[in-house]
Amino acid sequence: MTKQNAPEAGSESSARLDRAAVWARFAGRCAYCGQEIPKKGFHVDHVQPVFRGLLGAKERDAETDKFPSCRRCNLWKSVHSVEGFRKEIEAQVDRVRRDSAGFRLAEDFGQVEGTCKRVVFYFEHFGQGPA
Ligand SMILES: [Zn+2]
Repeated sequence: MTKQNAPEAGSESSARLDRAAVWARFAGRCAYCGQEIPKKGFHVDHVQPVFRGLLGAKERDAETDKFPSCRRCNLWKSVHSVEGFRKEIEAQVDRVRRDSAGFRLAEDFGQVEGTCKRVVFYFEHFGQGPA
């Protein structure tokens, strides 16, 4: 493998992956949070986690199973499904409330407000779901 086609850190291991096409899928934005992501060095998320071992090679390598992602979202999503990631984000307010006296103080004085809003991922605004 030459340096030119070596996979980038945190990226898909297949040198055949069209990273430019994955990056362009949501106009250079993370499929989850919508923040702009760099053309080089972004993460390619397997929408259906490879870790679970439920996918065959065909599904695992399908372009529809690849979402461009910022580092933060990819690492937080980790082995979660899309719905598992959504639940993980929705649980954050309760966790911070439980663990941070500063958050509870700020909340009691109206400086922050936890909500029960459903998390909506950036890709869902495009009507594109996982395959
Ligand atoms: Zn993100």
